[in-house]
Amino acid sequence: MQYQGKGSRRELGLSGLVPHAWRLAEIEMRDALAGDERRGLEASCSEGCAACCHYLVRLSIPEALYLGELVMALGEKRRTNVMARFASAKDSIREAGLLERLEADLIVPPGDTGAELRIHELSRDYLAMASGSGLGCPFLVEDLCSIHAWRPATCRQYCVTSAAPLCLDPFGSNVRRVPVSRNLAEAMANLAGELLDRPPEFIALPLALDWSAAHPEIAAARWDERDLLDRI
Ligand code: SF4
Ligand code: SF4
Repeated sequence: MQYQGKGSRRELGLSGLVPHAWRLAEIEMRDALAGDERRGLEASCSEGCAACCHYLVRLSIPEALYLGELVMALGEKRRTNVMARFASAKDSIREAGLLERLEADLIVPPGDTGAELRIHELSRDYLAMASGSGLGCPFLVEDLCSIHAWRPATCRQYCVTSAAPLCLDPFGSNVRRVPVSRNLAEAMANLAGELLDRPPEFIALPLALDWSAAHPEIAAARWDERDLLDRI
């Protein structure tokens, strides 16, 4: 968190928006789960069930910055370990020929009608690569999320009521997601796009540390705190 006082006015950077957005994501998810329970549907997710941690997880810019700051704040041993996992994941992505697509295809200019299909295909190709190579999220350790309290909005809002084994093949099976009414990763991506005057953009989770380090000017930008929180 990087709140800065300026007289009575407080300023906030994009990563400061993230805890607030995550709380909203949790509320949306709780409501969606309650709605499913009223219909007799139960969530299948449980600790140690981690097929979805091999999917392409997309971060908004605020979350890429937040996770970059989080990793930089770790003790040296753990930080070195996490950074090595990210570097290894990026190598696997490059070797699979997916790096350029991940860097380009997750930017969504207004009116880009092909974005949904393009991202669907990229997600499918990413999972095929991850399944073939055993690549998981760099934060996944022994099938548990090592940053559970700080996991991204996409992870907070992904849960299914279909049988857990179906999650191994989410593109070719009858996986049923719990339907959330508001996607907070998209909301943050859209807001960041408006504030930065650039197209909404997502960053593939394994590329987040590099992206964050490459954009210090975005990390340093500040807005009125109240205005920022009101807009998410
Ligand atoms: S989404 Fe699927 S793989 Fe992920 S925790 Fe739930 S049941 Fe398990
Ligand atoms: S951040 Fe955690 S929950 Fe999300 S994909 Fe990575 S290991 Fe899984």
